[in-house]
Amino acid sequence: MDYAKCSVFVTSAAFLCTLVVHIDLLGGIGEKRELMTRNVIIIGSGAAGLTAGIYAARANLSPLLFSGSQPGGQLTITSDVENYPGFAEAILGPTLMEEMRKQAARVGTEIIDANVSKVNLKQQPFVVEADGKRYESKTIIVATGASALLLGLPSESKLMGKGVSACATCDGFFFKNQEVAVVGGGDTAIEEATFLTKFATKVTVIHRRNELRASKIMQQRARDNPKIAFIWDTVVEDVLGVDQERVTGLKLKNLKTGKVTEFRCDGLFVAIGHKPNTDLFTGQLAMNEQGYLITKKSTTETNVAGVFACGDCQDHVYRQAVTAAGTGCMAAIDAERFLQHHSS
Ligand SMILES: Cc1cc2nc3c(=O)[nH]c(=O)nc-3n(C[C@H](O)[C@H](O)[C@H](O)COP(=O)(O)OP(=O)(O)OC[C@H]3O[C@@H](n4cnc5c(N)ncnc54)[C@H](O)[C@@H]3O)c2cc1C
Repeated sequence: MDYAKCSVFVTSAAFLCTLVVHIDLLGGIGEKRELMTRNVIIIGSGAAGLTAGIYAARANLSPLLFSGSQPGGQLTITSDVENYPGFAEAILGPTLMEEMRKQAARVGTEIIDANVSKVNLKQQPFVVEADGKRYESKTIIVATGASALLLGLPSESKLMGKGVSACATCDGFFFKNQEVAVVGGGDTAIEEATFLTKFATKVTVIHRRNELRASKIMQQRARDNPKIAFIWDTVVEDVLGVDQERVTGLKLKNLKTGKVTEFRCDGLFVAIGHKPNTDLFTGQLAMNEQGYLITKKSTTETNVAGVFACGDCQDHVYRQAVTAAGTGCMAAIDAERFLQHHSS
């Protein structure tokens, strides 16, 4: 062994030894990364979270993002998306979200496919726990979205995006000159039914009770609309058309008579409500009665300084991918400014 080779050997051995001691002291290489205090942790990988990732990474904040149990968020359960700007042709929801994820990763967002199980926002740095590991961060962006409440029928999930939808603003356009049904009796259902009359030839509202919960003025507007019909005291027992991969009708059951009938239609809109995914933050972040996070007007700031909320977990009005992406961008900019003002 000549001197040069020997020197390389000794240096490498010393480095390795230092590394091993270092790893040992930290209890394993995996934990070293967890111990470092992050600038930004993003919770959620829908349009809001991934956009926040893109902006935070490009602001040199090295964000860490937890994707949760539904990587890509709600758009992964739909087919054609025609209203997200930048695509001349319709793009499939899962493809759009895969592209967004690749973009976030390419610019430097570290993505961990895990669900956040606990947060502590009462101390600074904040603490986030996922997969039994503990992470610390100076700021947090909450982008946990919302889940559309569904009927829970196997045929409903098989035909989701193939005639079944939970969003009239998103999918109404696909039902030009067709007949559709809307399930629900609240404001959202009546709003969706009224909106759908712009495209469909007939919209039938199916409701389990014999009166609507929607506001009187909306009810009146719907009753006055010649394209809207009502079926009362009735539930959907099955969505028909699984074999044809498109909705061909519904199996309905009248709750008063028990009679089961088949109803022909081309589409089903489930409008029985949404649930924001915010249970994780109960008692720590301000939320409204339905659980939507409250943010200060024109910002993404929550009631806890350094914690920002974006997308459907704080927006019960628009609930669109582009608005979620827009507020995701706002959250990253808000986090960046917060860090700038609080850097010592
Ligand atoms: C069937 C359907 C069709 C739609 N079609 C369109 C359309 O054509 N155009 C349009 O603009 N909008 C459409 N929308 C609405 C659009 O999908 C939503 O507005 C958008 O996805 C909201 O994005 P988000 O990032 O706020 O939340 P979401 O997409 O709901 O994503 C939430 C994310 O948070 C994660 N998460 C939740 N809890 C945790 C946790 N504890 N730890 C870590 N991660 C967590 C989830 O895994 C998920 O990745 C549609 C919605 C549905 C249901």
